[in-house]
Amino acid sequence: MATGMIQVICTDFDGTLHAEGEQPPVPAALESLLADLQARGARWVINTGRTLPDLLVALDEARLRVSPDFLVVVEREIHVRQNESFVALADWNDRCQLDQEQLFARIRPRLPEVVAWIRRHFSALVYDDRYSPFCLMAGSDADTDAILDRLAAVFADEPDLMVVRNSVYARFSHRAYNKGSALGEIVRRLGCPARAVFAAGDHVNDLPMLSREYAHYLTAPANAVPEVQAAVRGLGGYVSPHSSGHGVRDALEFFLSNPDPGLGAGHRLAAER
Ligand SMILES: [Mg+2]
Repeated sequence: MATGMIQVICTDFDGTLHAEGEQPPVPAALESLLADLQARGARWVINTGRTLPDLLVALDEARLRVSPDFLVVVEREIHVRQNESFVALADWNDRCQLDQEQLFARIRPRLPEVVAWIRRHFSALVYDDRYSPFCLMAGSDADTDAILDRLAAVFADEPDLMVVRNSVYARFSHRAYNKGSALGEIVRRLGCPARAVFAAGDHVNDLPMLSREYAHYLTAPANAVPEVQAAVRGLGGYVSPHSSGHGVRDALEFFLSNPDPGLGAGHRLAAER
């Protein structure tokens, strides 16, 4: 099996690498494959919306025999494994935090008015947390659409402001920092071309990394939301017929045995199987 063409393996965590409720949550065959690829020099990145403590607890509980080389947490902060612990990539994380703070400081004075409008018109939970001055849990997809339209109009003059949405959940973020740009930074530091990067994700917050800008080998497991499956197919990636970690293992094996499918061919070859 040739491994040279995949030098970086980037996996989302929940629903992609890890299936809550399955035992084991990360399939043993995927663990073995990751260990094998790491032994041959590939680097493994877990790229998640979870916080670092939350992810470390889940990794510990999953009792993995393999360890990721990099973690991207809260969709943007990078941590690098050094021996058995993870060390923050300070210059990237600090720059990310500073840029976000400056952006959020500009928009914060205008938030009370829009939050009051949301509370007047919808039954929605609006709050802030350590990572964002505006987090939303709306009552329905239609409510979320209407609220996000209003936010887009109010903050049309802030091009760096981005809404990260996951069905009825949404929060403000800085456009420059997401799962894609964080993966791009890791790959840049490794001096690895995007064409040697594999990326797997199942939800809309994975779309920024499921991009040819950052990764050549794009995949989604069978349980991925339709929007993600469509995006991966549209980019010539591979949508596995298997779910979560079984799908990631299948996709890695698919690409390892079809080293250079090129745009569109991954989908065609997948359909022919
Ligand atoms: Mg996920």
